[in-house]
Amino acid sequence: MKPMKPMKPMNGQEMHDLVRRLYPLCRSITGDGVRQTLEIIGESIPIQVSEVATGTPVLDWIVPREWNIRDAYVKDPHGARVIDFQASNLHVVGYSVPVSATMTLDELRGHLHTLPDQPSLVPYRTSYYAETWGFCVSADTLAAMGPGPYEVMIDSTLADGHLTYGEHVVPGESSDEVLISCHVCHPSLANDNMAGVAVAVALAQGLVDPHYTYRFIFAPGTIGAITWLARNRDRADRVKHGFTLACAGDRGDITYKRSRRGDAPVDRAFEHVLKDRAHTVLDFSPYGYDERQYCSPGFNLPVGSLTRTPYAGYPEYHTSADDPDFVSAEAMEDTLDTCRRALQILESDRRLQNLSPYGEPQLGRRGLYGSLGGRSDTKQAQMAMLWVLNLSDGDHSLLDIAERSGLPFDAVAEAAVALQTAGLVKELPE
Ligand code: ZN
Repeated sequence: MKPMKPMKPMNGQEMHDLVRRLYPLCRSITGDGVRQTLEIIGESIPIQVSEVATGTPVLDWIVPREWNIRDAYVKDPHGARVIDFQASNLHVVGYSVPVSATMTLDELRGHLHTLPDQPSLVPYRTSYYAETWGFCVSADTLAAMGPGPYEVMIDSTLADGHLTYGEHVVPGESSDEVLISCHVCHPSLANDNMAGVAVAVALAQGLVDPHYTYRFIFAPGTIGAITWLARNRDRADRVKHGFTLACAGDRGDITYKRSRRGDAPVDRAFEHVLKDRAHTVLDFSPYGYDERQYCSPGFNLPVGSLTRTPYAGYPEYHTSADDPDFVSAEAMEDTLDTCRRALQILESDRRLQNLSPYGEPQLGRRGLYGSLGGRSDTKQAQMAMLWVLNLSDGDHSLLDIAERSGLPFDAVAEAAVALQTAGLVKELPE
């Protein structure tokens, strides 16, 4: 395939604008909210949409019925909407079956969900696999509600249809793949996960003639990743590196969670780019986002998880406070930059063979000292050459050398290019 023509990647402000635009859509694990989300993403990067019919077996699961909703409310005796889906789609429990009834507050109460410890906030709740209905409301609103009666209406449909997911592929010179996966099943929550989507789009836009083929997956959490894996089971081993991208826009530090393998190149690349800044690295656990599917033992793909503050780690998590103001353009830019730097390591990591391994080769004679004249990091560049020469015995990659020497990967990679140009090392096959 022809390389894609380079796109100008979105900047932080444009990523934030995309979050604001996607935020109001009522997404769930199926339905038109996901389709509209993919359509909007598709304005920035080409998206191939897959529709998988209700009832299709996918690994140990079955694609569920499709859920769509048009309106929902609880009206007080004066006809005022005290709980209104049109004001925020968080007000309806995701996958609520339709209801049209009149009931007292006491009858309604069992269907109302609040956050007593955060009384001004509306919680986010779903009930995908148990047929029920409900409303989410702030504890303050509930406290102000009289005995009723209330007119209760949820105009939803739960019917045979499809599960929808989207993919964007940037072909590389190798058919080996880097997989980047974002969940797109949450309604009006910004950090979780429209910020992750926006960063993924910008990341995709910035890829020019990559070595690896990059596959971006925008799918509903759990069932979407399981569906993708079921449909790509025999080619999943093309994935050589990957990560899920979520909670990418809050103002907290970055957290990287290792893949199940624990020492995959993607794990080491992220740890390397994070080591000189405030961050957290966590070991794998079978919870969190869709890394738990990609890292299930049958697949065991080298897929980690990149977030800023991880799931459930901030008070705004899964509440109406996770709105577009909770995420910042600067934080998304920082997440994007971190991803780019880790991918740059994966793109340029390789093993070299020292062709002059008996004693140190004379660098001055080859102009390799002179070429560094005047640089403030001359000492570092020199050390990088000595390390590359010493460890390029066929067993060590450039990332191994960066880790062992404590030098930045960029310095090691630059030294490798200089030594290659001088004919002192040669590249070994992958
Ligand atoms: Zn979530």
